[in-house]
Amino acid sequence: MNNKLNNKERLHLAQVKSLPCSVCDASGPSEAHHVKQGLQYTCIALCPDCHTNSILGWHGQKRMWHIKKMDEIDALNNTIKRLFNTPSENNNAF
Ligand SMILES: [Zn+2]
Ligand SMILES: [Zn+2]
Repeated sequence: MNNKLNNKERLHLAQVKSLPCSVCDASGPSEAHHVKQGLQYTCIALCPDCHTNSILGWHGQKRMWHIKKMDEIDALNNTIKRLFNTPSENNNAF
């Protein structure tokens, strides 16, 4: 696994982690979920529940994802959409 991040990748990850959860909209800071290990620009901002919770989370039974009818691409789309908003808009519902 490649853990060496360059400055731009580190900045990108920091911005992703500052976003609200891309699934349930819980306010940030969030965790960064990698759709594919090592690809820093496909990271999704997720709260701990939607990320690693054994029942709700992606790495568990994905219950919250089913409730929201979302998969990784839907969540990635929300993350990218919010990255293009100004920081002051990040807390707004979309
Ligand atoms: Zn969430
Ligand atoms: Zn993850």
